[in-house]
Amino acid sequence: MAQPNWNLLHRDTQAVRVAVERSQYGENSEALYLTSGYVQPSAEAGARRFAGEEEGYTYARAGNPTVTSFEQRLAALEATEAAVSTSSGMAALLMMCMGLLKAGDHVVCSQSMFGSTIKLIGSDMAKFGVESTFVSQTDLAAWQAALRPNTKLLLAETPTNPLTEVCDIAALTEIAHQAGALLAVDNCFATPALQRPAELGADLVIHSGTKYLDGQGRVMAGAICCSQQLVDEKFIPVLKSCGMTLAPFNAWVVLKGMETLDIRMRAQSERAHQLALWLESHPGVARVYYPGLPSHPQHELAMRQMSGLGGAVVAFDVKGDSPELARTNAFQVLDSMQLLSLSTNLGDTKTLCAHPASTSHGRLSEAQRQAAGVGQGLIRVAVGLEHLDDIKADLERGLSLI
Ligand SMILES: *Cc1c(COP(=O)(O)O)cnc(C)c1O
Repeated sequence: MAQPNWNLLHRDTQAVRVAVERSQYGENSEALYLTSGYVQPSAEAGARRFAGEEEGYTYARAGNPTVTSFEQRLAALEATEAAVSTSSGMAALLMMCMGLLKAGDHVVCSQSMFGSTIKLIGSDMAKFGVESTFVSQTDLAAWQAALRPNTKLLLAETPTNPLTEVCDIAALTEIAHQAGALLAVDNCFATPALQRPAELGADLVIHSGTKYLDGQGRVMAGAICCSQQLVDEKFIPVLKSCGMTLAPFNAWVVLKGMETLDIRMRAQSERAHQLALWLESHPGVARVYYPGLPSHPQHELAMRQMSGLGGAVVAFDVKGDSPELARTNAFQVLDSMQLLSLSTNLGDTKTLCAHPASTSHGRLSEAQRQAAGVGQGLIRVAVGLEHLDDIKADLERGLSLI
């Protein structure tokens, strides 16, 4: 049977149909190839494959058909030429650093990136002589001012965790390219269902597949979406020598998860929006952070950049006249929950609630936390697929006591 022209099909269709490699049995669902080695058709062919002169799998550290299917489907959704996958989101960020940077290079990074990313750039890469400057994510002048002649990479995340700050990807691309640097965007929160950074100019799109791509809280995975040239020349060599390989089983789970990414993101974003509106009018709540609300500082930019939806993560400050009281009130809300999960993960069909000040941002000093805008009364809700009324009722249990 002839193959369709994948580029002409809609993204919903691509999410379900791209990169189905059928074996001789004609299975309809994607096959899971659990093998670490491959039998070569001849010694000559084996030699050519190892030399990179002929297509063909050699050893699973460098490639596996199920893993390839995941990479091709994600690249289609992100509108990039190619993708390379890794064992986790952090492994993708590590691979990016190892592939693109060397001692003496400089990175400009948003100060509100995921906590482990800040540690990777600011501490781990610093050990190998990579310099970095952290800037306020939404302040384009600060990004510009941080540039140096040796700046090779700008790294942003939008919306950010937990305060959902949004930055202008197209404007950051301009700043990066004028300086001869690349722009990488961590698209974990929005996913390609809502936002495609490459279409706005970003050179690299980073994913934690652990979150919404899997979408059901089962396995860890990561990926970099970018040009075929960057994959072939910068990242595959790192994968071969460092081995941050995605396991075929995990690739298969995430591949199947992506089939429902669009409808999950829409359904979860709608619930998050309704929850944000309800929280904003609640007497126990001091402030709500959600890109879909007109009160959000970058609301218009977010709506332009994120397909008109705000994403599935809502954060809010409970009332409390002192940090101690705010913390007590936040803990009361979390400890009164009977249904929702007290968990620092996100991107699950089950709604997850967390207290950032004592978990993801717990290692910071109070002053650093204040600078990051993470107060003691802040609660982050990664909204899942439960009925909205049940989510509200579970939060109301503790909120009504404030
Ligand atoms: C979770 C997360 C990561 C790290 O991904 P892992 O799969 O947990 O290694 C990176 N960036 C963002 C925004 C995340 O939420």
